Amino acid sequence: MDKREMSCDVVIVGCGAAGLYTALSLPEGTRTVMLSKGSFEECDSMLAQGGICVLPEADDYDVYVEDTMRAGHYENRRESVDVLLRSSRSAINDLVALGVDFEREQDGSLAFTREGAHRRPRICYHADVTGREITSKLLERVRELPWVRMFEHLACADLIDEAPAPGESGPATPAACGGVVAVPVSEEESTRKADELGGVASDAVRIRARATVLATGGIGGLYERSTNFPQLTGDACSIAAAHGAQLEHMDYVQIHPTSLYEGPEASGRAFLISESCRGEGAVLLNRAGERFCDELQPRDVVTAAIYRQMELDGMPYVRLSFENVPDDVIRGHFANIYQHCLEAGYDICREPIPVVPAQHYFMGGIHVDLDSATTVPGLYAVGETSCTGVHGKNRLASNSLLEALVFSRRAAYRITTGESLSVEPTGEPPLDGRHRPCGGYRSGIDALARDAVGDDVGKPSGEAEATYPAIDFDGAGGAVEVPPAARKKECAR
Ligand SMILES: Cc1cc2nc3c(=O)[nH]c(=O)nc-3n(C[C@H](O)[C@H](O)[C@H](O)COP(=O)(O)OP(=O)(O)OC[C@H]3O[C@@H](n4cnc5c(N)ncnc54)[C@H](O)[C@@H]3O)c2cc1C
Repeated sequence: MDKREMSCDVVIVGCGAAGLYTALSLPEGTRTVMLSKGSFEECDSMLAQGGICVLPEADDYDVYVEDTMRAGHYENRRESVDVLLRSSRSAINDLVALGVDFEREQDGSLAFTREGAHRRPRICYHADVTGREITSKLLERVRELPWVRMFEHLACADLIDEAPAPGESGPATPAACGGVVAVPVSEEESTRKADELGGVASDAVRIRARATVLATGGIGGLYERSTNFPQLTGDACSIAAAHGAQLEHMDYVQIHPTSLYEGPEASGRAFLISESCRGEGAVLLNRAGERFCDELQPRDVVTAAIYRQMELDGMPYVRLSFENVPDDVIRGHFANIYQHCLEAGYDICREPIPVVPAQHYFMGGIHVDLDSATTVPGLYAVGETSCTGVHGKNRLASNSLLEALVFSRRAAYRITTGESLSVEPTGEPPLDGRHRPCGGYRSGIDALARDAVGDDVGKPSGEAEATYPAIDFDGAGGAVEVPPAARKKECAR
């Protein structure tokens, strides 16, 4: 076998929340390879500030559905929204059972904050660094799985086509996906688009897999002003489309109303000023220091109002005032934002800060069904690069991390069993931070969760190591020759 060829059961392209949770949801012993174009830190999941939604109680169901649909201009797929809400409590329980620390009320129950277009507080959070808390814990947990091998600075540049199974071929039958072609990239090269990476480069690695999961995140790297990491250039969409996958709503791009304006010469990633600041009372002001819109409208509505006001004022920004937000909330809940603004020369406890809209999120993407399957056999897409239809034309704040988790768990279940994961009854299970297995097989989460319900879960992971020792990734018994740039970055256990 060629030294630049690996084989595994599942290859996951992307190491953000969606990719990591997919890996954790696969059965113990699944030989899994994960790729990250930049470093593991360079994913948007690490940047999420506001939080992650949950259905706090059964009687919020109708209001939460309506908030999501209204924000999405009623172009959402209703069945996807239903799955999202009814699976949300299990997802949050899993995070807690995997060690994620959310803010709590005095009685120990989860504390909820609120963001624009949410009529009720239903967002779990960890100060204003929720994404870092969630993603770093998921990364730690995946690193404990001996059957997962992770590479930084190894970029997917193409897919491997397999001939359709006998009897399934016809003029419209796309080839099945048999894995990916990946190329090692330096930090500088990692911001290039897939088609500029040279899929036939001499150091390319062919990673053959039974199932391929695309979890490459958003498209902010294609924009001049974005809150996203520059590595996120929509690679999965262009690569999948070239292999016959259906794309959906490629023009549904969300512009966030408030990123910090750091001067006309500022370059690099725009710093987000979370919507939860407005949820907690911060208000937008025009040049004359007057409010000019309802700050808690959906993002696209507030963004349009800001652009109008900037034009009227002849200014490159408007201002956001924290006058109504108590100092202890600013220094506690918004500690990261407070610190960043201070470093940029603004004390938000004393003065309004200049803000301007920036590209933020991509509602469109690779069309998937409720199990995250694309229209190409063997190819799945999860997280921001997929279009589940949850968000319609405009995403409701804090629904995206939740979507990434809920639909990646469904992808893992479908890959493993060939079936759809059943959905919990509305308002179930209790929000008690305990993991419940999905049944049928023992997953990585079943092995790792520190608090689990069920007989066959929560066994020490030492047993997993004993059952699944070293993995023969190249199927030939020898060591795989991974190109130096990526080998150097292979995740240490
Ligand atoms: C500043 C900011 C704040 C946010 N706040 C919130 C919030 O409070 N709540 C919320 O729900 N959502 C929030 N979001 C949105 C949310 O963070 C993202 O939608 C979500 O994290 C996407 O997860 P993901 O796993 O799909 O992608 P990411 O976490 O972005 O991961 C993408 C991965 O794909 C890899 N990759 C990309 N291309 C390739 C390639 N060709 N080959 C190999 N690897 C590749 C990257 O290296 C990375 O590892 C925020 C986003 C930003 C930018």
